[in-house]
Amino acid sequence: MFSIMMAVSTVRLSDDAKLAVLQRVDRFRQWHCLDEKRYCLVCGEIITGREIKVTMGTRENRSLRITCPTKYCDAMPIEWVWPTDAVLVKIAMMEMERNWFCLITRRGRALQSCRKRKDT
Ligand SMILES: [Zn+2]
Repeated sequence: MFSIMMAVSTVRLSDDAKLAVLQRVDRFRQWHCLDEKRYCLVCGEIITGREIKVTMGTRENRSLRITCPTKYCDAMPIEWVWPTDAVLVKIAMMEMERNWFCLITRRGRALQSCRKRKDT
């Protein structure tokens, strides 16, 4: 990554000002309020306008940037899509798969301890 990444500071803004920044910086999708949600394609999280990080370059480039609030994710507006039904279904499926996997591993462990108990 660029060293410029280090030279930014998080900007605290009032709700109105933040919404204005989102509207100005996000040229891809319209923002109407801070409670609007976006689905981040990079980290797979649903984020709200309120959570989005606003940073400002501290050196020659003092322009405002908005980035994903998720830790270790610095996705930009172009990577945020509206959480449409299709996207939400995909998230639900992923969650289900994850839960299903947990269930199976848990059951596997339970079976193992069962067997152990029988053996002894
Ligand atoms: Zn993200």
